[in-house]
Amino acid sequence: VKPWTNLAAITMPPRVARLARDARGYPIPHTVTFDENGTPDFRVIDPAKWAHAARFRCCGLCGEMLGGWLAFVGGDTSMRTRMFIDLPMHRDCAQYALAVCPFLAAPVFAYSRALPAATALNEHVSPDRPDRFGLATTKSYRQVRLPLGDVALLAGELESVEWWRHGRPELTP
Ligand SMILES: [Zn+2]
Repeated sequence: VKPWTNLAAITMPPRVARLARDARGYPIPHTVTFDENGTPDFRVIDPAKWAHAARFRCCGLCGEMLGGWLAFVGGDTSMRTRMFIDLPMHRDCAQYALAVCPFLAAPVFAYSRALPAATALNEHVSPDRPDRFGLATTKSYRQVRLPLGDVALLAGELESVEWWRHGRPELTP
């Protein structure tokens, strides 16, 4: 599988540059699972890693500690409800993810729905990719339990929301 975009053309934040790479050259997010051959599966989040990062305010991409400001990425619904399944990130990590992640950025969505049998938080993310993604900044969040027992993150007041489409920020009118 080739990257959908030219990764070399997108500036990699230093924290992301320290991550290991997969065969395509994608930096491997610290929360993903690995199969028995040691191949990362970007679609499946390790619940233990997720819980640790959520508790200790670690970035969902690079795994390093977040600062005072946090960046959440989600669709219109998440921006309205401030509820997120995906961990917050550093702002530059979030911008990098929005630019290169096939789920967030690729114009033609080539996401395979064939997930491993293991239950994972990512299965709760709608397979219908939102038309656009918001990058919201906030200073806080707390864990909340959804009606079916899953844990989500409720972000504090959103300071700003920047909209992205097809791997690029939308021009604000
Ligand atoms: Zn980060």
